[in-house]
Amino acid sequence: MPRPIRAHIDQNALANNLYIARRATRSRIMAAIKGDAYGHGLLRAAEALADADGFALLDIRDAVRLREAGYAQTILLLEGCFQADDLKLAAEYDLSCVIHSAWQVAMLDAYPRRAAFDVWLKVNTGMNRLGWAPAAVSTAMEQLRAHQAVRGITLMTHFACADEARGVAGQLERFNTLAAAYRVPRSSANSAALLRYPDTHGDWVRPGIMLYGASPFIDTSARQLGLRPAMTLHSEIIAIQELKAGDGVGYGALFRADRDMRIGIVACGYADGYPRHAPNGTPILVDGQLAQTVGRVSMDMLSVDLGNLMHATVGSRVVLWGDGMPVDTVARAAGTISYELLCGLTKRVPVYL
Ligand SMILES: *Cc1c(COP(=O)(O)O)cnc(C)c1O
Repeated sequence: MPRPIRAHIDQNALANNLYIARRATRSRIMAAIKGDAYGHGLLRAAEALADADGFALLDIRDAVRLREAGYAQTILLLEGCFQADDLKLAAEYDLSCVIHSAWQVAMLDAYPRRAAFDVWLKVNTGMNRLGWAPAAVSTAMEQLRAHQAVRGITLMTHFACADEARGVAGQLERFNTLAAAYRVPRSSANSAALLRYPDTHGDWVRPGIMLYGASPFIDTSARQLGLRPAMTLHSEIIAIQELKAGDGVGYGALFRADRDMRIGIVACGYADGYPRHAPNGTPILVDGQLAQTVGRVSMDMLSVDLGNLMHATVGSRVVLWGDGMPVDTVARAAGTISYELLCGLTKRVPVYL
């Protein structure tokens, strides 16, 4: 028998979450499926999200795979092309390309075919990661409009604080001011903006995390938003230890029993993608009951306090996150965000639908 750890991908949950996005907007929906669809598997996720109007990702090989699987929607390369060879593929597979820097326009200049690309001109309105400075947008726009290789142009930006109190106001105003000069489609909203700021929606929204059933907000749960977890990471207890007061658990004896205790050893560790920094007390489900981790997470195992779970034993089912244990809750306990946990699922974990 292989180790009992598994990840269940619930395609109905993905479809449900897309529907929640659909209900929240009249704009076209571009599903963000970068990072192997946030760890859910590119084609597995795409199949469940097939009603999306477009897909956004980074790796051109994934984009080609998606096109070859028969998806006819817009497929956007979120960082555009990295080298001239990519342009050939992008044209051949009708991939839309972000243009965030002058070097990408220069690369385009050398491309021989006419009207080969839909491009998304990315404006830096305050994230300061990718995109043209507002003052440079008109020049870039003129270059692209006149460019022989360019077909359509969409204007896009990305928000830094859509999920927090600071919100989107400054960035949105800068974006709208710029966009007002052109009659082109606009796109700015990630999940947080899609759910909280309807005036950001424009022509295309770009939800990611919400589609996977996690909340973009610290103060509102996925459940409150009507979202269902798409990934459930589960395993089993493979051993029981009876501790005496004073006994330590795991590497560095990070946890020490202050009384006699019964703990379960779970077949899941950081080599599966469980966060090593999850502290004592990180919530976890055992036989559907809330329990807490104890001791340091090791490569292949972690430990759980079975104090209140009289019936838990070898073979008891453990849910690390997903159905019944929000990934947001585990992420917060471990000092990270759901995105990192979902993307961090490692390939040794068997996945099933
Ligand atoms: C990842 C990404 C999104 C989706 O963000 P979520 O917070 O997961 O909704 C949208 N736009 C861009 C440019 C992205 O890189």
